[in-house]
Amino acid sequence: MRGRLVESRDIAPSVRHFVFEVPGVDCFEFTPGQWISLSAVLDGKEITRAYSLASEPARGNHFELCLNKVGDGHFSPYMFALRPGDEVEMRAPMGTFVLREPHRDSVFIATGTGVAPFRSMLRAFLREGSPHFTLLLGVRHEEDLLYRDEFAQMALNTAQFRFLSTLSQPSPEWTGRRGRVQMHLEDALAGRQDVDVYLCGLKAMVDDLRTILKERGFDRKQIRYEKYD
Ligand SMILES: Cc1cc2nc3c(=O)[nH]c(=O)nc-3n(C[C@H](O)[C@H](O)[C@H](O)COP(=O)(O)OP(=O)(O)OC[C@H]3O[C@@H](n4cnc5c(N)ncnc54)[C@H](O)[C@@H]3O)c2cc1C
Repeated sequence: MRGRLVESRDIAPSVRHFVFEVPGVDCFEFTPGQWISLSAVLDGKEITRAYSLASEPARGNHFELCLNKVGDGHFSPYMFALRPGDEVEMRAPMGTFVLREPHRDSVFIATGTGVAPFRSMLRAFLREGSPHFTLLLGVRHEEDLLYRDEFAQMALNTAQFRFLSTLSQPSPEWTGRRGRVQMHLEDALAGRQDVDVYLCGLKAMVDDLRTILKERGFDRKQIRYEKYD
């Protein structure tokens, strides 16, 4: 399978939103939370990397990704060099980081591009009458708050959604939450123990929060996670 880049736009420093199409396919099917693997031969070596789908299914043969450019990384700089019309080798969606059935009130916690699968889930499942979802997003600076306007709009439109953000390196003018996502777990849980918690981002954050949640009495089944490194 190949993905063809339709368009891309920078949404934060070193973070880009990509829109791809899958030529020859009518409907690109996946479950929100899943990822695809992309491959390329770079310097004579085949390199493969996983990327979470950031869009909801039912977009015909289109899908979206949200990528961080790792300065000294092997694959992400290659992705940032793609131009509309360029194609990249890909494999069908996979992964088990999907909402438990039946869907329940849930808390999503992400750092950086770890927000991608949650954007997919929210766009697919958030509506009047859906379970309640809370998204806690942690980044360094205000300009790194990915899809900020979109999530703020979702929260305005739907009582079922709360959007919390925190900055680890805020400017003095920032009046919102400060520090790492771990510091705002209680706020996100709002005193509830009967919710599922989904964690996505780099290993250090995921491991830390899993430990805290287990100590707080959460059952293993209530915690799902995806580590990016
Ligand atoms: C299931 C899964 C889903 C993923 N989804 C996404 C996604 O939606 N968006 C995305 O940008 N990345 C995602 N990643 C990470 C991605 O696969 C690559 O690891 C990342 O693009 C770095 O690859 P690279 O070849 O450029 O860097 P490498 O040459 O492999 O260098 C790896 C370095 O990059 C760091 N790193 C890995 N991911 C990130 C990141 N997102 N931000 C900052 N540093 C990172 C690692 O800690 C390590 O130090 C996902 C990983 C997994 C396992």
